[in-house]
Amino acid sequence: MKPTPQTLARMQAVVGAKGVVADGDAAPYLAERRELYVGRAAAVLRPATTQEVSAILKIAHETGTAIVPQGGNTGLVGGQIPHETGDEVVLSLSRMNRIRALDAENNTLALDAGVTLAAAQAAAEEAGRLFPLSLASEGSCQIGGNLSTNAGGTAVLRYGNARDLVLGLEVVLANGDIWDGMRGLRKDNTGYDLKQLFLGSEGTLGIVTGAVLKLFPRPQSIATAFAAVPDVASAVKLLRVADNVSGGMVTAFELVPRIGLEFVTRHIEGAADPLPDASPWYVLIELSAGSATAGLDATLEAVLAEGLEQRLVTDAALARSEKQRADFWRLRETLSDVQRLEGGSIKHDVSVPVSRMGDFIATATAAVEAAMPGVRTVAFGHIGDGNVHFNLSQPLGADKPAFLARWNEMNALVHGLVREMGGSISAEHGVGRLKRDEIAATKSPVEIELMRTLKKSLDPKGILNPGKVV
Ligand code: ZN
Repeated sequence: MKPTPQTLARMQAVVGAKGVVADGDAAPYLAERRELYVGRAAAVLRPATTQEVSAILKIAHETGTAIVPQGGNTGLVGGQIPHETGDEVVLSLSRMNRIRALDAENNTLALDAGVTLAAAQAAAEEAGRLFPLSLASEGSCQIGGNLSTNAGGTAVLRYGNARDLVLGLEVVLANGDIWDGMRGLRKDNTGYDLKQLFLGSEGTLGIVTGAVLKLFPRPQSIATAFAAVPDVASAVKLLRVADNVSGGMVTAFELVPRIGLEFVTRHIEGAADPLPDASPWYVLIELSAGSATAGLDATLEAVLAEGLEQRLVTDAALARSEKQRADFWRLRETLSDVQRLEGGSIKHDVSVPVSRMGDFIATATAAVEAAMPGVRTVAFGHIGDGNVHFNLSQPLGADKPAFLARWNEMNALVHGLVREMGGSISAEHGVGRLKRDEIAATKSPVEIELMRTLKKSLDPKGILNPGKVV
């Protein structure tokens, strides 16, 4: 329902002048980076405390006003963007950016939801600890967004998804009640694990305002290599070799296709191919250890030697300096951005069992190439998690709008194969608006009904991020 001027005035009074974004300054809150979704809002509010969020939700509940919670606005599926109606109120958590407490002995960090991921990492580092969640947007994405979308990234293989890194949560419910679950316990078997309901629910069940995060020892030694592999199936086998030889020290294992490396070296100044000969595929392998044991390079060399012996690796370069390590990572981390410079890109964020990764990428590539001759497949990412960003760059010289008009057709083709292989059509980016209808059409009726039951009981008036997820 469209909020009346009185309702908006009451909400604005809660946050005060500092917390009201003027209409002229609202644009950055209403569109996401790719401009797939550009919405309108009745108001954009920036509360400074959990109590203010609670007071706004009480008014929203009473008046039936829809609330769209927003963190750093880096989401890729439109979950954080209001609809085009202009009836919704955007609630940006960005002013809630306080580190609440760091308990080095308990290995926990308590903070507000609006703290950026980079600031959380820095707070952990200052105490000699590690908060391992790591993703390309870490400078601007916020913990509340990371948790409510269950963010993934490049360290999932070793440390798990965002939901695995949380011990406690503070959530404002649809009626304005505050659930204080800010516990720093590693063992707590007192009934339902309520925090898991809110992690990954994309703001549809409650608004995350604070969290207690798990910290880890800071790696004292790191070894990184960029290895050429003949095919994806060999890359998966190499992962198991790396696991076994290193005794579980693999921190990252990322797939880079030849075409991706070419995009990066073409568009990013100073980026260079680390190896003399071209290979169809590469993996970025990183091992890390908490102790300052010398010899991690030797362990990685042993992994690569075993890979060469088994013909899983054709060539490799080991980072010999921090600069070289950063250079290798830049090849991986700029991969998403450079696709924009190659014309239109149709995206898929999918997962299959790791053992089927090779099969999936080969089959899906053949299928899209048959459907669209000349399409350039850029399949990259978290192969160690069975998660690949299976993106399609437009054929050379193609018309961008005509290419993008085939988005749904390509999605249907790729997602069909994903389902056949027991995979997920949204591995780490979430559902938002982009995949909502598809999720409803593909999950079992029992599963969808369970999700709707939870939504109805926690948000009976449907005011929390309506039209997203379910
Ligand atoms: Zn990713």
